[in-house]
Amino acid sequence: MKCMRLRFSAHCYAAVPMPELAEVEYYRKIWDPGLGSKILRVHLHPRARVFRGEPAESLPAALTGATFQASHAHGKQMLFAFSRRIWLGCHLGMSGEMLCLPPDHAPGKHDHLVLYTRTAALTFRDPRMFGRLRIHEGKSPPAWWSEMPPAAGSQNFTPAQVRTALTRHPRLPLKTLLLDQRYFPGIGNWMADEILWQLRWAPATPAGSLPPSAHTHLHRTLQKISRHALATIGQTWADPPKSWLFLHRWRDGGHCPRCSNPLTRADLRGRTCCWCPDCQG
Ligand SMILES: [Zn+2]
Repeated sequence: MKCMRLRFSAHCYAAVPMPELAEVEYYRKIWDPGLGSKILRVHLHPRARVFRGEPAESLPAALTGATFQASHAHGKQMLFAFSRRIWLGCHLGMSGEMLCLPPDHAPGKHDHLVLYTRTAALTFRDPRMFGRLRIHEGKSPPAWWSEMPPAAGSQNFTPAQVRTALTRHPRLPLKTLLLDQRYFPGIGNWMADEILWQLRWAPATPAGSLPPSAHTHLHRTLQKISRHALATIGQTWADPPKSWLFLHRWRDGGHCPRCSNPLTRADLRGRTCCWCPDCQG
């Protein structure tokens, strides 16, 4: 795990990395060794601040004796299902991390929740508390989960979803729109830059300036990049192809893998953008 975190940092030129769709899928599986196991004991951080005001104090009693049944990822969100109709939502933010530690693990000061099974300590650690945990009790998943639109990469992600986003926000730069989780759950900074680079579109292009035929291209590229990221980073933390922008955007003085000219970095509506001015005219 330690190596993985270091590697994650090495990928990012930004000050703080934010896990995107594929990284979240990777983290989602970290607790899977505990699937089917009974929760024997629960450690809750005394201040429980990552619950953001939700009444977390009832969680240890509710989860002790429950069985860990399933884990799901959707965009940047995770949802863990337990027996007794208990659901635990998790957003890693910029600093959260899932860990599967030995069952004799003593909680550290940044361990906000530890679920002890017979063979593991399923831990949510978050030194800077940008992440969030949520509790839900009910037969069905919480509304915040079920109301999310399909994520790019899934079969249910349609060209109509892309068209809706583009036509509702015609003045927004494409890069800004791609980061909007209401339309594109799981897409973050590196994926948005990759999508626009592969399409050869400038990040500041207004969404409304694209012809209808371009909507289809955008949908296809979102699907392709998301599926490939899920199959590489999301499975084994493997790199996407070297021909992608992904492996070239992190270093100072990086060069476009297509034309070899220098990449440009600049702020666009509060988010750092990386693009090739020669390819993305
Ligand atoms: Zn280029």
